[in-house]
Amino acid sequence: MMKNIGIIIELDKGRIKETNFGMITLARAKDTELFAVVVDADAEIVKEELESFGITKIVEVSLAEDQQKNPVVRAKAIINVIKEYNICAVFGLSTAMGKDLLPRIAALLKASLVMDCYAVDIKQNLVKTSQYSGKTSATIKAAGDVLIFGVRPNAIEPVKASSLAEILKFDGTSLISKDLKVIKTGDTDTSENISLVEADVIIAGGRGMKNGENFTILSKCAKKLNGAVGASRVAVDAGWVPYSMQVGQTGEKVSPLVYIACGISGSVQHFAGMKTSGMVIAINKDENAAIMSNCDYYVKADALEIIPELIKHLGND
Ligand SMILES: Cc1cc2nc3c(=O)[nH]c(=O)nc-3n(C[C@H](O)[C@H](O)[C@H](O)COP(=O)(O)OP(=O)(O)OC[C@H]3O[C@@H](n4cnc5c(N)ncnc54)[C@H](O)[C@@H]3O)c2cc1C
Repeated sequence: MMKNIGIIIELDKGRIKETNFGMITLARAKDTELFAVVVDADAEIVKEELESFGITKIVEVSLAEDQQKNPVVRAKAIINVIKEYNICAVFGLSTAMGKDLLPRIAALLKASLVMDCYAVDIKQNLVKTSQYSGKTSATIKAAGDVLIFGVRPNAIEPVKASSLAEILKFDGTSLISKDLKVIKTGDTDTSENISLVEADVIIAGGRGMKNGENFTILSKCAKKLNGAVGASRVAVDAGWVPYSMQVGQTGEKVSPLVYIACGISGSVQHFAGMKTSGMVIAINKDENAAIMSNCDYYVKADALEIIPELIKHLGND
């Protein structure tokens, strides 16, 4: 029997974030119809890109202007879409937005929720996720009429599959939330920085960076590599960089193609956040640091000397 699958598409300034394509690839399976749900965006603009990954229906959800940032209203709108189109599984990203939205949908629907998944067998409702900070992986059999999956960003290689999509409009302008009102919103990050969890390349600094100012070297390098800057907990606790940059057990879980660890010893807690990276490169003065035997390549050197050299080699903008 054909299963209808909903995929909540995350957009950034009107364009589809790259990491959605891996999620769509994961959701694609035999005997399924893929419904991409876009909230407050013009479906015509994103149609072609979604078609190139096998989406056959695009549900364009419109909300009242003063409710667009309200997560409860968004959750209610998506629940209406789920009911309208008989959707039996919903995929969203385990990003900051997804971590806010998906549990709300699951709670309102009393549906099963598995966050941070990297494999889903939709036929058997089996889902794989990491547990205990990545020490073990769990295969969970999800049960219920509707299943909600939060997909780990960048964990799945996007694979194209062409299709033709129909646009369906969903009017959610009458939806409101009595309990949660958004008073004010504002970007905490107005820069063009690439989000940590979605970056293909991360250059992260630890105690070995010595101070917050030296993180500007990492930012310069990240810019050249089109990547993002991460940090160990020591760097965050010292106040050198904000918590949003922390990678690890109590920070972000990242899966970039390349992770460059500068002056980071490689504690189990740090590894818990980056061990699914495609390639790990360590720059450390101490050849016996744990990270040196747990990486693909290492440079035994002072990161404060090597990174400026790397920036020079990467050339001018
Ligand atoms: C419950 C719990 C949760 C935690 N959660 C996290 C987490 O989410 N993320 C996290 O990162 N940690 C976490 N930690 C902390 C963790 O245990 C480590 O203390 C921390 O990861 C170490 O950070 P570091 O590698 O920057 O510092 P250190 O372990 O002090 O290592 C610094 C490294 O820099 C090298 N170095 C020094 N100078 C230079 C230089 N100039 N050039 C190159 N290399 C240099 C040194 O050789 C050393 O290997 C957690 C701990 C606990 C108990």
